[in-house]
Amino acid sequence: MDPVTDSLNEVHRRLSGLRDGQVADYIPQLATADPDDFGIALVSMAGHTYRAGRTDTPFTVQSVSKPFVYALALSDLGPAEVLRRVGAEPSGNPFNAISLERDTGRPANPMINAGAIATTALVRADGPAERFRRILACLSAFAGRPLDVDEDVYASEAATGDRNRALAYLMHSAGSLRADPEETADTYFRQCSVRVTVVDLAVMAATLANGGRNPVTGVQAVAEPDAVRVLAVMATCGMYDGAGEWLLDVGLPAKSGVSGGLIAASPARFGIAVHSPPLDGSGNPVRAVAALGEMSERFGLHIMHGPGLRATTVTGAERFERDGRAIGVVTAQGILEFTEFEALVHAVGEVTPSAPGWMVVDLTAVTGVLPGPAAGLAAVLDDLADRGHRAAVAAQETFIEAGEGRPRTWEMFRTREEALSWCTRA
Ligand code: GLN
Repeated sequence: MDPVTDSLNEVHRRLSGLRDGQVADYIPQLATADPDDFGIALVSMAGHTYRAGRTDTPFTVQSVSKPFVYALALSDLGPAEVLRRVGAEPSGNPFNAISLERDTGRPANPMINAGAIATTALVRADGPAERFRRILACLSAFAGRPLDVDEDVYASEAATGDRNRALAYLMHSAGSLRADPEETADTYFRQCSVRVTVVDLAVMAATLANGGRNPVTGVQAVAEPDAVRVLAVMATCGMYDGAGEWLLDVGLPAKSGVSGGLIAASPARFGIAVHSPPLDGSGNPVRAVAALGEMSERFGLHIMHGPGLRATTVTGAERFERDGRAIGVVTAQGILEFTEFEALVHAVGEVTPSAPGWMVVDLTAVTGVLPGPAAGLAAVLDDLADRGHRAAVAAQETFIEAGEGRPRTWEMFRTREEALSWCTRA
């Protein structure tokens, strides 16, 4: 097991007992969801996927489709025209509110239904079939695989979607929806019924975090400036009437949906997704909100949190023989947050001797280690010991401590030289 998966598993384990929230039932077919389904997936900029819990359950994307269709409208029409037709204000309204500007009928917020329905109509196409085909292709490019529609959920939503149809008619009468309201609502219902897994959502979020380029397939799903605008709108509007508090506490661009999906993007670091159907009073999935809160704190992910200029963290990774002993050495500098930690773990993997040998992690130029990375590094060192290696950490401070109730499996030195000379003596 790798340390990123370990920390996801730990968050998963701590939160799976959380029983708050209600599974949505206003779309009858959604009420059949299993409230115990709970999966977390994370995709890094290097394209690695990490998972915890149930990550294979298919579910419908629902409102998590909104940022991606917004991205498609941006690339079709450009930012100025999209903004003229749909606002970018966190309206403070629930997802199904009648949230239209007084004089123009322009929907205020593209991440709740009214604005999202208007956005769907902006996607360029000759007719509704082609419009939906383009939306599905866009969602699939973000996910990196061909997605399909859950016809049962679509039928259920189409049969009970009068409020969304009403929103479309209201905008049409105000002149802010220039397409046929029935057709537009129908395309929107299909878009919400696209089937995904939590891993698909994590890849989609990672694509936004990676400037629009899917880190798994390498495909540019949307231009970089459009990805930036989508992330900005997610940051301010992504969590319905819980958006302000979310930005305060968690500090990541995010989007939730009524089937229990939630994505968050840590720009230039990773995309993460959680699936857990029970929702809180704002319509956000309870366990997902709690999981992201914990992750943000442990890994210092808040976008306003200033880690300073990011220099290269891993400054050396080598393996050599000394006095007949195979020794691996990884050298790091600066503050170990998520991305730096991931790079360090991979470097350790690369230079670990093939047969049991010695490993030095030189942190003498490291000035800080966040709690998540510290726990992760302890796990990496334990794993080296389990595989018969002997490890030493050189550091100015005790950044890494043994897990609770466990013996420390590595030696500690103040300098690299002391650690290296231990390798040839011990
Ligand atoms: N299809 C749902 C609706 O329009 C999407 C809402 C949501 O996920 N919050 O009602």
